[in-house]
Amino acid sequence: MPSLRFHLGLAGGLLAAALAACAPRIVAPPSPPPQTVRQPQGLQCLDELGRRGAVFEMVAERVSANGCRLTNGVSLTRSSVALDKAATLGCPLALALHDFETRVVQPAAQKHFRRNLVQINHFGAYDCRNIRGTRRLSEHARGQALDIGGFELDGGIRISVKEHWTNAGARSRFLQEVAKGACEVFSVVLTPRSDSEHHDHFHVDIGPRPHCGA
Ligand SMILES: [Zn+2]
Repeated sequence: MPSLRFHLGLAGGLLAAALAACAPRIVAPPSPPPQTVRQPQGLQCLDELGRRGAVFEMVAERVSANGCRLTNGVSLTRSSVALDKAATLGCPLALALHDFETRVVQPAAQKHFRRNLVQINHFGAYDCRNIRGTRRLSEHARGQALDIGGFELDGGIRISVKEHWTNAGARSRFLQEVAKGACEVFSVVLTPRSDSEHHDHFHVDIGPRPHCGA
C-alpha cells in the first residue's frame, strides 16, 4: 500500500519536524500569554520547576474582565534560593528567576564577594494593575513580572537596590553587573537608571516588549 506508507511517512516526517522545531524545550499551550523569553509552559513547566528543587504551591487560575490573567500560577517560596516571602507568579517567570539566580547572580556574588547568594528580597509579582501612569496592563497583571528589591549573601551580606545602586563600592558593582546580566535572561529590565519609579528595585519581566534598562 504505497499510498498509506506515503501518508504515514509524511505524518512521521511532519511530527519529527515539529519536534525538531520545538527543541529543546518549547511546548505551546492552548493560549500562552505572549512572551519574548521562551520557557516551558503548562505541566512541562511545573515539572521542570519541581525537578530544579523549587518549593512552590500551585495557585488557582485567575482571570478578570479587564484582562488580568494568571495561568499556571505558583506561590513560590524557594527557587534555587529562598525568597524573603512567597511570590505569586506564572511558572515560566519562576523558571526565568531560577535561571537568573544560577547564571547571573551566583557568579556575580562569587566574583565580588566570594560568597553564595542565599536569598532574593522582592516587592511582589502578580498584581492586577496597569503600568503606573498609563492605561496599559502591566506584565504584573499576567504573572510575568517580578520586582526585586535586593539580595542576601551568606555571611550576612545584604545588598539593596535602594541603598547600594550607586556609591557603595562592591555592592554597587555587583548590582550593576547583575542588572546587565538580567537583560540576558528577562525581556525587560528596569532599574534606578530607568526612572524614579524604580529607584528602589529592579523590575524584571518576560513580556513581549524587550527593553534593557541596566
Ligand atoms: Zn514591576
